[in-house]
Amino acid sequence: EISVTGLRKSFGPLTVLNGIDLRLKAGERVAIIGPSGTGKSTLLRCMNYLDRPEAGVIRIGDLTVDAATVTRQQILALRRRTSFVFQHYALFANKTARENITEGLIGVRGIPLAEANRRADRILADIGLSDKAGSYPAALSGGQQQRVGIGRAMAMESDLMLFDEPTSALDPEWVGEVLDLIRRVADGRQTMLIVTHEMQFAREIADRIVFMEGGRIVEQGPPAQIFDNPRDERTRAFLRRVG
Ligand code: ATP
Ligand code: MG
Repeated sequence: EISVTGLRKSFGPLTVLNGIDLRLKAGERVAIIGPSGTGKSTLLRCMNYLDRPEAGVIRIGDLTVDAATVTRQQILALRRRTSFVFQHYALFANKTARENITEGLIGVRGIPLAEANRRADRILADIGLSDKAGSYPAALSGGQQQRVGIGRAMAMESDLMLFDEPTSALDPEWVGEVLDLIRRVADGRQTMLIVTHEMQFAREIADRIVFMEGGRIVEQGPPAQIFDNPRDERTRAFLRRVG
């Protein structure tokens, strides 16, 4: 089980996360929706300490990371158990598709090069990019780059995959192939937390929808409840706006 308790984060005078409590069961797929600037990305980034929260406890299995007492070792352990798919892919421009996938396996996981390469080649086959193993990101389409970004996260075999608007930077023509790949990851019952503005997709793949506004979780529940019968006026207003 994975949990976040009392997570708080400010940037200067601006409080962005105002006490977030969230639990995920193993295999659960949770989608986060909400207005721009509401702290969705910050929540994901705090969950693996890309941003450092001021307060709060993150638990993943037997690992407990309390912002009040966090150590460098714990941050590394947290990063080994989580993987991140970024909106703008965040691939290394000077590494090939295969090297982008092996980088974390070698650097974060300490897996020997030969084994990392074998694992990367399996992933590349799985995501349909075997023929692009030696290509650099600049030679790949946006959709292919994001599939490498997802493949890199898949290769880590982490306890929790975090996706931050994985299709919102893509040209419309590439969105479908990336959603298809995420759907397959979800079908494998990978525990995942996905921030998305693709409401139809969220409804389809998520076990639970979390609506955030103003640094708080306003409402959460099964997709049918949140989309068809939201209780909170803020959720209703948001869903009216995004149609
Ligand atoms: P969007 O839907 O537009 O991606 P979001 O819900 O992901 O929005 P965040 O990116 O988490 O929102 O940002 C929440 C608030 O924190 C915003 O007001 C943003 O400007 C601010 N913020 C985020 N990162 C930083 C930073 N590094 N320094 C200062 N302010 C930041
Ligand atoms: Mg964001």
